[in-house]
Amino acid sequence: MEKKLEGLLAKLYRNSHLEKPELLYLLEKITYQRAGLLFAYARKTRVKTYKRRVYLRALVEFSNHCRNNCWYCGLRRDNKKVARYRLLPEAILACCSSAYQAGYRTVVLQSGEDEFYAATVLADLIQTIKKECPGMAVTLSTGEAPREKYYRLYRAGADRFLLRHETISTDLYERYHPGMNHEQRLQCLKELKEIGYQTGAGFIVGLPGQTDAVLAEELLFLKEFDPDMVGIGPLIPHPETPLGNSSAGSVEKTFILLALIRLLLPEVLLPVTTAVNTLDRHGWEKGLAAGANVIMPVVSPAECRRKYEIYKDKSGVDYAALPEIKRRVEKAGFELDMSRGDSYSYKRLRSAERSG
Ligand code: SF4
Repeated sequence: MEKKLEGLLAKLYRNSHLEKPELLYLLEKITYQRAGLLFAYARKTRVKTYKRRVYLRALVEFSNHCRNNCWYCGLRRDNKKVARYRLLPEAILACCSSAYQAGYRTVVLQSGEDEFYAATVLADLIQTIKKECPGMAVTLSTGEAPREKYYRLYRAGADRFLLRHETISTDLYERYHPGMNHEQRLQCLKELKEIGYQTGAGFIVGLPGQTDAVLAEELLFLKEFDPDMVGIGPLIPHPETPLGNSSAGSVEKTFILLALIRLLLPEVLLPVTTAVNTLDRHGWEKGLAAGANVIMPVVSPAECRRKYEIYKDKSGVDYAALPEIKRRVEKAGFELDMSRGDSYSYKRLRSAERSG
């Protein structure tokens, strides 16, 4: 590996920071085959912060209705071919309870942007989950909402919120998310953080028109925003969408980006997302080796999984039972941690509150 690359990687490992031209250089020069040193630094960083622990989140996809029309997503409102479903609060609670009994201590409630679930309904549900599953962290991933709704759900006990910003490029965002506003998206993220949620941002890898310069900006945005969690994944365009004939994003580039994110944000909670597993059946193992430390198995009822069709042929791996997940994680040299797996900033806040 050339000296300049080695020097930049060592600097990134040491300082958790690089300037944009330096990041751009790495993005242009490093291929998956030449990323050994990058992955080694990323693993070292993750071991320093999280040891070899891998946190599990039980993902409940409770509604596939969505008011939006993103150009790549099978749940977009204009896709009339997807069979829509909604789980009622009792059914969502049943998923959470069985995940709790299996040992999960984080549940992620995910849906399209579906206004069917009013703030009062979700707040009641969160309170019930907290009562029936003591110690369970509740993460929401339900899209954009007014600040009052976010606040209400936080007051009801929600701990975390995932809202991928999708891309930091206003041009690309507004091209592929008709009717949506980039500034508003970023404002929602800011508000979630201000309210007190452990907040997750993230972007799509491989949107048509996304250059390495845009990816460098994605990384710098994450560094500056400093989220608790980052979820990234390669684009997999659903055939029934305007991007249906476009190529998928590169899963190899996604591993490189995971490693760069680990180095820029050593403490971040970094999942290997479903899209990675869909394009690479060893996605978990390769993602963990690149510095990721979270996996999110889907625990929604079997009849819903097929219908939560963000893209086609979602990986069945993400429906694996715990013993199989444990086997794979351990074989890859890591260990499952079934605790809540809160972010470092949250833990620091709680310990300051206790001592103050
Ligand atoms: S990406 Fe999210 S907001 Fe966009 S259509 Fe799909 S579910 Fe809806």
